[in-house]
Amino acid sequence: MAGILKWAAMACLALSVTACGKVDAQRIETAAPGDWLTYGRTYDEQRFSPLDQVNKDTVSRLGVTWWSEFDTDRGQEATPLVADGVLYTTTNWSKVFAFDAKTGKALWKYDPRVPGEKGFDACCDTVNRGVALWQGKVYVGTLDGRLIALDAKTGAVAWSVQTTDAKQPYTITGAPRALKGKILIGNGGAEYPVRGYVSAYDAATGKLDWRFQMTPNPTGEPDGQASDKAMKDFAYATWSDGAWKLGGGGATPWDAITYDAKSDLIFVGTGNAGPWNGKIRTGGKGDNLFAASIVALRPDTGEYVWHYQTTPRDDWDFDAVQHLMIADLPIGGTTRHVVMQANKNGFFYVLDAVTGKLVSADKFVKVDWASHVDLATGRPVEVPGARYEAGAQHQQTPGALGGHNWQPMAFSPKEGLVYIPAQTLHMGYTDPKEFSFLPGAWNLGMGRSDAPKLEPTPFGELIAWDPVAKTARWKAAFAEPWRSGVLATAGGLVFHAVGHEFVAFDAATGKAIWRYNTGAAAIAAASTYAVDGEQYVALMVGYGGAGGMGGQEPRRPGRLLVFKLDGKVTPTPFPTPFVAPPLDLSTATPSKGDPAKGELLSSKFCVHCHGSGGYLPVLPTSPVILDPLGFKAIVLDGAKKPHGMAPFRRFFDEASAEDLRAYLLKQAASPPVKVAEKLGHPGN
Ligand code: CA
Repeated sequence: MAGILKWAAMACLALSVTACGKVDAQRIETAAPGDWLTYGRTYDEQRFSPLDQVNKDTVSRLGVTWWSEFDTDRGQEATPLVADGVLYTTTNWSKVFAFDAKTGKALWKYDPRVPGEKGFDACCDTVNRGVALWQGKVYVGTLDGRLIALDAKTGAVAWSVQTTDAKQPYTITGAPRALKGKILIGNGGAEYPVRGYVSAYDAATGKLDWRFQMTPNPTGEPDGQASDKAMKDFAYATWSDGAWKLGGGGATPWDAITYDAKSDLIFVGTGNAGPWNGKIRTGGKGDNLFAASIVALRPDTGEYVWHYQTTPRDDWDFDAVQHLMIADLPIGGTTRHVVMQANKNGFFYVLDAVTGKLVSADKFVKVDWASHVDLATGRPVEVPGARYEAGAQHQQTPGALGGHNWQPMAFSPKEGLVYIPAQTLHMGYTDPKEFSFLPGAWNLGMGRSDAPKLEPTPFGELIAWDPVAKTARWKAAFAEPWRSGVLATAGGLVFHAVGHEFVAFDAATGKAIWRYNTGAAAIAAASTYAVDGEQYVALMVGYGGAGGMGGQEPRRPGRLLVFKLDGKVTPTPFPTPFVAPPLDLSTATPSKGDPAKGELLSSKFCVHCHGSGGYLPVLPTSPVILDPLGFKAIVLDGAKKPHGMAPFRRFFDEASAEDLRAYLLKQAASPPVKVAEKLGHPGN
């Protein structure tokens, strides 16, 4: 341990200005054990720390040594980065914070002032997954599509570029990645949908180096971008006529971007095809490349190298954006250099990193949409009915939230195991009675059912997956499907937050050997670092991250908790959440609106975010629906814009607002809220 900790950097404060946060490729690749320099710690994104001061024997002494509370109270998804004794993290609404990593002293903060109404463009909460570090700068992607470079020492803006068409419902929630003097950033929005792409900007100047589109230009014309040849050679022929031409087809790379120094390739995971329903999107024809795919590009030019489509002609919101991890594995008597993904669709993929050839694809959770993946063709073998072609509602596992979502997994080279924060969630799919494309809004092309089946009960598992044996070595099961990302350490521990508990599991056996009550649920992955001979573990606490998973967790201010051995600090308890009394409907102004019309509006515009409650109000329980003037001030004119509630006057008029209010009053008078309404359309 002493040998490891001599690498621990001194506080940035004590160093010269130029040394502060001066991260380069060499540093990221050979990351000192005490550093956490990029989203997945090192370029391979294994999220494995060689630190072992906190281990199976000492973890019982782990306690909070400093903490900080933030000014946002929705999902917190950032992985804190640490370089030169400074911890950098982001919060909801794309705000950036720097702390002395040892003492917790706040050094600077930066608020990009994202317009509140942008909340409507985020399918799954106004989250942010963290920063990138490069040559003395800190980079953040903002919800409204900017990429901003900040001075690592002061937080001052060095440059800022708009990476998206601000008039379109693009968002950025993912962490940028820094490599070869470039900053890579993707975007989200495939539920609306938009046309996804990844961009590389010059780290020093913010000039666009190259851009790679993930779907063809609907006009069929080249874009003058790095993707033109691949679009012509592979992609365009896989898209037929359909609604994608109005929205761009989705395929937004909103999370996974991994650089492999060994093959000098970047791997980008792409989102679902849009609209979700392939019959509406392209008349049920074609594979729709490069949606729901892993795409390998050359970092210098953006040139296409290979692709592997995990879900051809996606019909289910099976984004392939989950964590892409690189490792060298002993397979078939040789060492294979591979890229791995626990996909939303329920299969764990191992691909040859250099060629993209499929090595293996195995179910890590219950999967009933496909029997298996054909290793010869690389294609899933679907079961009859999976594409809800029979007309009736089709119940399926996994559903749109996936067998594994964005929450990062981790790998322990010591155990040879990948730790997957998995979930078993089903969903009903059906065609809509009618569909018309609505610019700027959700366009899933999905119908709703009044009576979805509620079995099986959703649950979660931490799965220790052996990617060589292609099976789980151990599993820990939980009532909570939606939990945190994962951290693995050389101390033989796996850190994972479940409900209000931050838990350390024995990496070899899955036994929970340490628990800490965080007072609120966490969904982010923890990171770990060392300063002055001591190991720290940092976790962002704050629940949210998908409209459909609001669940029972009330909104609480986000917090950063930092632990070390013999940490003795007790954070202030969260205040008891406010529980609104039942509505007194006798005080409501009666509505002359049409509840049937209001129900359609609710399903189209409201339930995605408000459907299941939790971090956003459940509308039939909100006192706002009692009064038509207050209701219209919020719904039509944006009185709650700063909180993320966009004005809807661009979508409907005063009569429509009253129809919606009439429906919500009717709902309020007939509790409980219908199950279909409650489930909403889970997204991501
Ligand atoms: Ca999606």
